[in-house]
Amino acid sequence: MKSQPAGLCLRTPLLVTLGFAALSAAFAFAAPAADPLFVRINERIEADLKASARPSATPATSPSTSNPGASPAAPAKDTSVMTVGSKVPAVSRSAFPLTPLTKAEIEKLAEKLTPEEAKVILRKGTEPAFCGNLLDNKKEGTYCCRLCGLPLFASNRKFNSGTGWPSFYAPVDADHIKYLRDASHGMERIEILCRRCDAHLGHVFEDGPRPTGLRYCLNSASMEFVETGGKLPLPPIATQTAYFAGGCFWGVEDRFQHQIPGVINVVSGYMGGETKNPTYKQVCAGTTGHAETIAITFDPTKVTYQALLEAFFKFHDPTQVNRQGPDIGTQYRSAIFASDAAQLEAAKAFIAAQASNPRFKGRPIATEVVSVEKAGPFYPAEDYHQDYHEIHGGSCALPEP
Ligand SMILES: [Zn+2]
Repeated sequence: MKSQPAGLCLRTPLLVTLGFAALSAAFAFAAPAADPLFVRINERIEADLKASARPSATPATSPSTSNPGASPAAPAKDTSVMTVGSKVPAVSRSAFPLTPLTKAEIEKLAEKLTPEEAKVILRKGTEPAFCGNLLDNKKEGTYCCRLCGLPLFASNRKFNSGTGWPSFYAPVDADHIKYLRDASHGMERIEILCRRCDAHLGHVFEDGPRPTGLRYCLNSASMEFVETGGKLPLPPIATQTAYFAGGCFWGVEDRFQHQIPGVINVVSGYMGGETKNPTYKQVCAGTTGHAETIAITFDPTKVTYQALLEAFFKFHDPTQVNRQGPDIGTQYRSAIFASDAAQLEAAKAFIAAQASNPRFKGRPIATEVVSVEKAGPFYPAEDYHQDYHEIHGGSCALPEP
């Protein structure tokens, strides 16, 4: 049985005539550049398309790659680029493993697929419009890869596109989706696949709603829905959280996110104060009691809490009282908010040991150590504070050694 042509998933005929370069340029203007969510997705799309444009190290085996009729601007689909992907971390920021599965592992998983699912997932089929079982699903939950279980999309980013296929404006994590050029069916589109197992999911178009302006057009057959509270088919890795306050959170967040292997994700926020759900403006006024704080999700099998403490003291000056360089006020104080008894003990012991550190000779450590029970909740800062240096460039000066 032949399914509906994949082209029915397209709602923007203009794009059909555009080259891939123009298509990816169109993505760059689809939403405000400073939206952290969009920036990360857009970077991922650009990196993947660039990587998939490279000549593959593996000799092409698909007959379509040697099709003399294919024009240079619209290359025939090259299945060999399936093995080429831009660099992604081994663990995503939402703490899921991203190491690509082997061919043998994929074949083993594929045994559970129905013939219809296999046609979509393994052979890049498209299910007929308005027929997928997840199109009208309005339950709260997560849409996982049908083949390997990696969470791909969530109900809070699903919208009714009217196309007949489940539609989302963003994935759960930018790194969970792989993007490939797709010149099949006489069109130029961007195919989306599962980052971990290369399962075909659908395509992405730039006619979606804000904040990303993207429309991820999915096949229901490619996904398994897990209602909120249910057991995910692929669990996240076991992580721990560390909270540090060391002056302006932009710089501290950036350093931990990019310089410490084993750190999975860093979020800027506010902690240690009294006001509930404080805003940046309130914290800046210095009346809420909060300190600009970062929450670090880390893999304890890759980096120890002790190593994070050492890095924290390199990334800021723990001897300054209620300030960090030019930033003055209690919101810029140095603090460690310990997640549990072990962290509390380790932090206290670490600070005690710094008394004999020549770097701090004659300068007492001002860092306060407080348990999270006493510090109160961590409140993530407004979106525009997240990944600030990653998005806008620049950096904060390191303290004097
Ligand atoms: Zn997968």
